[in-house]
Amino acid sequence: MVDVGVQTSPPSQLQTDLDIGTSVTNNSYLQMPVTSAQPLDTSFISSPKKDQDTSDASTPSPPPSPDKPDSDVSYVPSDELHDSNQSTSPDYITTEPKIIAFESCLKTLFARVVCTECGEPISSDESTILYNGTAMKVKFLCMSGHQTSWESQPLVNSKPAGNLMVATAIILSGETFSRISHFADILSLKFIGHTQYYSIQKDIAIPAIDNYYSLQRDVVLQQLQGKQLVLGGDGRCDSPGYSAKYCTYTFMDTLTGVIPDFSLVQVTETTSSTKMELIGFQRSHSNIEDANLAVDVVVTDRHVQIRKAMATDHRNKNHQFDVWHLSKSIKKKILAIKPKKLLSEVKPWIPSILNHVWWCSREAKGNPDKLEETWTSLLYHISNRHTFPGKLVTKCGHPPLSDDAIRKKKWMAKDSPAYEALENVITNKLILRDIRHLDRFCHTGSLETYHSMMLKYCPKRMEFDYPSMVAQNSASCCRQQCQYRKEAKDWRQWYAVLHDSLSKKHWQMDSS
Ligand SMILES: [Zn+2]
Ligand SMILES: [Zn+2]
Repeated sequence: MVDVGVQTSPPSQLQTDLDIGTSVTNNSYLQMPVTSAQPLDTSFISSPKKDQDTSDASTPSPPPSPDKPDSDVSYVPSDELHDSNQSTSPDYITTEPKIIAFESCLKTLFARVVCTECGEPISSDESTILYNGTAMKVKFLCMSGHQTSWESQPLVNSKPAGNLMVATAIILSGETFSRISHFADILSLKFIGHTQYYSIQKDIAIPAIDNYYSLQRDVVLQQLQGKQLVLGGDGRCDSPGYSAKYCTYTFMDTLTGVIPDFSLVQVTETTSSTKMELIGFQRSHSNIEDANLAVDVVVTDRHVQIRKAMATDHRNKNHQFDVWHLSKSIKKKILAIKPKKLLSEVKPWIPSILNHVWWCSREAKGNPDKLEETWTSLLYHISNRHTFPGKLVTKCGHPPLSDDAIRKKKWMAKDSPAYEALENVITNKLILRDIRHLDRFCHTGSLETYHSMMLKYCPKRMEFDYPSMVAQNSASCCRQQCQYRKEAKDWRQWYAVLHDSLSKKHWQMDSS
């Protein structure tokens, strides 16, 4: 390759180019003269092989590898570099180690480069360093006038691979461009500009993630066909209450942990941010029905609009409440007992009462009447009565208590003010109505865990546009599916799976 005529920019031009350079979107490199190199000090390069290669210019250079971009440059590859097939395959670029190289250190290496045409050393005065985002390109001119070049990154779609990967890594890590760009600024690390970032995000990263999500969703829907599903559903807003801009509603199969659907709702689609969760619920529910999945039970918290929708639009499905949500609500009601003197008598019983919620739910086995009776039998137990009249439940579930246990327990006197205050909570009309929705012993703990994991991809209180939010939701969803479908044990493996898709679908290596 001979490419004569590249000029070194004068120093006054250099600063201007670098400033503009933070927003370049094409593959053009920014120029910087190699001649600005500090005094070369190669003493730390101790590899005998390299020393021999560079000191003996008459040694024939190895034939150029067709896989390596601009491989006619006779730079000495690292001893640790993997074989050429691996180092340039689309899959490998995602996992290949990358390093932070200091410009001054690279210049010491460039000073050792010899021309592949004639074996002459290169002229440092006539060589130029150019930058494109995170990538470096060096144009060398040898003493005999042959020009060659070298690039620090392989090219994919005519773009340095590192620039693409930085953009996708920002999305996949739930970070923002401005934060990572600031991080790079502090390090004086060459970085892509915001225009370049948004261009890569829009044209490459988001389509790749969406595509992978669709493929994976098809597999999940196939897997759930023909089963009577118990789906947990919950909404997660990007900030609390009225200031929320987005709400993601997610349905998860409580048996397998896979996600058949999620919907991202923007506040601009509604008249109030408080309606976003219902819209997301209805939208994803329709998507699931459109996919011909058989939904037997829907488990949610006690969201007023959703319970109304379940009671009117989805009467053919069993609506269960998450046990944990209801027990939390019962605890809150107990702690609201006034005056404090009464509460102090009730308080020691709170852990037992909350355990009792779970126990009733587990023992109900789909019978809400039995559940309600078991629940209210609590009032007998706390007043030291362990058998009682009832239609379905006539005694406590625990084994007979020893005299010692009976003596140690602080039983509540029936009809005492504290007992009556607690009775008001236990037999509260709304509690009795809602506790009947626990008879299938369903909980959405896995969905809660998933929402915590989602924070990694969609952090709260950060401004993202709609396509980015969808991509981040899809990315976190894909990770969940991978984990449950045993495609990936941890995030590293998952990242590799997703990048594999990026490579195959959207990242075509340039041959040079
Ligand atoms: Zn030459
Ligand atoms: Zn008892």
